[in-house]
Amino acid sequence: MRARVHGVEPRSRANGPGARFVVWLQGCTLGCPGCFNPTTHPADGGHEIEVAELAAQLEASGAEGLSLSGGEPFQQPAAALALLEAARAQGKSTLAFSGYTLDELRALPLGERILAHLDVLIDGRYVAGERLATGLRGSENQRIRLLTSRYSEADVAATPEAEIRISPTGEVILTGVDPLKLKVLR
Ligand code: SF4
Repeated sequence: MRARVHGVEPRSRANGPGARFVVWLQGCTLGCPGCFNPTTHPADGGHEIEVAELAAQLEASGAEGLSLSGGEPFQQPAAALALLEAARAQGKSTLAFSGYTLDELRALPLGERILAHLDVLIDGRYVAGERLATGLRGSENQRIRLLTSRYSEADVAATPEAEIRISPTGEVILTGVDPLKLKVLR
């Protein structure tokens, strides 16, 4: 099975508790005004990769958990479920950011199986007028659902809002619910 991804970050501290392997799945049709990541919207953007390859990278990363983001990760439900199943099989925790509400996810064909493989879900559309950008929530309407006892509210709240990482090749990666903005001076 293949997934279409926007990006992968093997060890992020700003996408859930602890060091996390983050997969931004490509594609979103939900159209929240003010979305901070519009380049993730086209379904034909990003690049394709085998889920088995992502699962191998997850295991090699040493991260304590998998975080799914997007785009809307559950607009590729089969790939998302396969990734969550791989994470669980490796004993890793699982977290997802979704623009769908919990009830909308339950109504998706694979929704109940997806939810059964999640420890934490942050659900709901981004509402620019209720911008929050803290504690993993982009806006006030979104909810943090602790679907298992693996993490506490305090664990989630301790996640930094922003992160900056510089790769060995000089690439600068900005992530988090309130990512920093770079100003380039020459
Ligand atoms: S669900 Fe997420 S990616 Fe999709 S438009 Fe809303 S904020 Fe953007």
